[in-house]
Amino acid sequence: MRIAVIGFGAATVGFLKEVDTTKNEVIVFEMNKDIFSSSISGIRADGKLFVSSEMGGDLEEILFDKKLQKEIVNYYSELSETEPEVGSRENIEELKKRFFINGFKLVESEFFHIGTDKLKIFLKNAHNEFIKKGVNFKFNSFVKNIDVQEKILIEYIDRKTRAELKDYFDKVYVAVGRSGFKLIDTLTKKYPDIILSNTKVDLGVRFELPDIVVKELNEALYEFKVKFKSSNGQLIRTFCNNPSGYVVTEKYADFITVNGHAIHDQKSTNTNFAILVTHSFTKPFNDPNGYGSYIAKLSNILAGGNKVILQTYGDFKKGKRTKKLWKVFPTLSNNEYVLGDLNLVFPSKTSISLIEFIDNLNQIIPGIADEENLLYGVEVKFYGKKLNNNLFENIKFIGDCSGHTRSIVHATAHGIIEARKIK
Ligand SMILES: Cc1cc2nc3c(=O)[nH]c(=O)nc-3n(C[C@H](O)[C@H](O)[C@H](O)COP(=O)(O)OP(=O)(O)OC[C@H]3O[C@@H](n4cnc5c(N)ncnc54)[C@H](O)[C@@H]3O)c2cc1C
Repeated sequence: MRIAVIGFGAATVGFLKEVDTTKNEVIVFEMNKDIFSSSISGIRADGKLFVSSEMGGDLEEILFDKKLQKEIVNYYSELSETEPEVGSRENIEELKKRFFINGFKLVESEFFHIGTDKLKIFLKNAHNEFIKKGVNFKFNSFVKNIDVQEKILIEYIDRKTRAELKDYFDKVYVAVGRSGFKLIDTLTKKYPDIILSNTKVDLGVRFELPDIVVKELNEALYEFKVKFKSSNGQLIRTFCNNPSGYVVTEKYADFITVNGHAIHDQKSTNTNFAILVTHSFTKPFNDPNGYGSYIAKLSNILAGGNKVILQTYGDFKKGKRTKKLWKVFPTLSNNEYVLGDLNLVFPSKTSISLIEFIDNLNQIIPGIADEENLLYGVEVKFYGKKLNNNLFENIKFIGDCSGHTRSIVHATAHGIIEARKIK
């Protein structure tokens, strides 16, 4: 069989690891120039791996298969030639109780951190392994359209020569992640029955504070994930905790958001994590990603262009623009942010949810609600439309673009599971 895989991210890693190349010809189309080039993805930045039946995606065959999740963690650890950082998980029951009493749910998970620096080694080793298996990689190849015909047609642009090219396949695996939303939009417009649902976007801030305040949590859990319901009913959660890490910006085609990461061999003295508020919509509105992009663009406009807004927690609560910092200093470089007021960006219910979350967390971790801690905005997590993989026999959506995974381990597992289904 002639198989095309579109995108080289976590789902494709799982697929290529498992696919039988003695019986199938496999060609990977990746829009970037090589394996390391920055597409926005956790297998190129940070590399936190979780083993959990409570998070990472919604496919039950993955959620409840911890053996498969552990195998994936071992695979990433071996190929990155590193011993991942882990939390000690000491006093976990006591911590769970403290969170519960104060209105939070602590999400259970085993956790392993590879680090941005070590992911480069992983990518190099995985790529070599796949080349040895006979996989053919076409870099600089941006797939713009797929058409279901007797064979499956792929139309793509060679970004070096700008040539518009075509090829035909027996089976196509679309694994374009969140950054591939353009191709997914094209396909869902053409084949609207692929969409199962499209209702949510997560919006919030990247929160940064000195390591000393969250030392206990960082040591016990490394990644602490908690959920909370605010008085207006919105669900709020922490995401992507980076002990001794760095805040970074994330560049999309027409706006900039914030994110964070940690480096295995280079540490700061600050911890950062996202605080995200889930925004759910009902009919007639059906463009949650448009809503998230709009809010992100607004923050950039207020910051005077291609920048994000930074505000102290005290000023955010008072609704005042921040003019000076004196106790907590940002790890994001000062040409990427402007001191401002995030209340001009968020709807008031979002601001209320963020404040209730931080103030309640302060009862468990004193110092979290210190007036000088930093809020960067905005951070957005697009859920992606949930897609139906049963509509077409010969086109499958794997990983985050399917809307069913949201993490490296789940996306990789999705690739593995779909490759195993090939007869
Ligand atoms: C900055 C950042 C940090 C993250 N950190 C973590 C983390 O620590 N732990 C964790 O579990 N998850 C993390 N995530 C989420 C994680 O990266 C994803 O869940 C996972 O990578 C999804 O895998 P995927 O294969 O579906 O997509 P991706 O890994 O995003 O790969 C998609 C690939 O498709 C390519 N592509 C897109 N469109 C096209 C096209 N039209 N033609 C050709 N190629 C195309 C892209 O260039 C990309 O290489 C992070 C995400 C981001 C943005």
